[in-house]
Amino acid sequence: MEKISTMVREHKEELITLRRDFHAHPELGFEEFRTAKVIEEYIQSLGLSTERVAKTGVVALLSGTDPSGPVLLMRADIDALPVKEETGLPFLSTNGRMHACGHDAHMAMMLTALKILSKNRDLFKGTIKFVFQPNEEVAGAQVMIDEGVLENPKVDAAIGLHIWSPLPSGIIGIKSGAVTASMDVFKITINGRGGHTGYPDSAKDPIICASNVIIAAQSIQTRFINPMKPISLMFGIMNGGTKNNIIPDSVVLEGSLRYLYSTKPGNEDHPTTKFIELVNSVCATFGCTAQIDILHENDAVVNNSSMAMLAQEVAVSLVGKENVVEHATMAGEDFAAFGENVPAMFAFIGTANEKAKSTYPHHNPKFTIDEETLPLGVQYLVETAIAYFKRGT
Ligand SMILES: [Zn+2]
Ligand SMILES: [Zn+2]
Repeated sequence: MEKISTMVREHKEELITLRRDFHAHPELGFEEFRTAKVIEEYIQSLGLSTERVAKTGVVALLSGTDPSGPVLLMRADIDALPVKEETGLPFLSTNGRMHACGHDAHMAMMLTALKILSKNRDLFKGTIKFVFQPNEEVAGAQVMIDEGVLENPKVDAAIGLHIWSPLPSGIIGIKSGAVTASMDVFKITINGRGGHTGYPDSAKDPIICASNVIIAAQSIQTRFINPMKPISLMFGIMNGGTKNNIIPDSVVLEGSLRYLYSTKPGNEDHPTTKFIELVNSVCATFGCTAQIDILHENDAVVNNSSMAMLAQEVAVSLVGKENVVEHATMAGEDFAAFGENVPAMFAFIGTANEKAKSTYPHHNPKFTIDEETLPLGVQYLVETAIAYFKRGT
């Protein structure tokens, strides 16, 4: 849309200034006090009112000239990470926290999209609920939902995006179905019976038991779960023992289990359910017992197929068919909570560019973005919103 792309171009400088300001002042989840204030002041300067939800979350409503249509939720996450920044950028953070995931970009893009849409209220029939969400890194979305962000007015659909360094600048990743992983983290304490390494038969050795648990768990995906369902089971901690001639009493294993599909605990295809069964049976074989603690951190973001089709049409119109790819990741994302309640669509805006030094992984102390990709994210947000209202529900 020519009118929109012209407006996005006109706002580029302000967009970059906003992003740099957020970047220089990162705040952790539910501590985003300055961030929320900057967001509120910006929105209020456009003549709109704001509401606080979930302590540091900010919500604003924008209706079209004709407000009789559906309600679309647009979400940007606003939290930073406990990472000491090493980018050397002139606007780098000096407070020991860092926007190392790109949420500074999300806020700047969404505020700019809000401004442009507020000047084009004749282009949509219905209401947009802009949601600036705290604490994405630790499931803040659900807190906003628990506090009623999907009601009053009732939300009919949701869109969100992530600026994404695994994809090159100029590429947009869109896919129907699961695009980010469900994730369970686990801690397993394997209890045996300690003893003398000269008399191993009189002990119950938790070390050889733990080793077998790790090896046996590798077969979960193909032998217990359909190999077409992607799983990543990783052990990050293996701890046990005090001396080379002592069989310890126990060994602790910790790790994460990610799976790129949606399922409920106890279901046939739930990898964590299989994992627990397997750990218990291996431990029984070695005469040990296991205490298994599981924490479910994220559900998979599952894109609604008709929302994905709509977003894909917009993306193709912006960057051409050859630059729109199907993309999914084993990273977690709490936008999943919106998709469990309403049809939702989560896109990836590529930002990797050698010249901009923006090829580092997310959460890395050297992570940065290619600022040239910010306008594309704004245009994608604005045009996807307009296309949603045009299509009708
Ligand atoms: Zn992150
Ligand atoms: Zn993120």
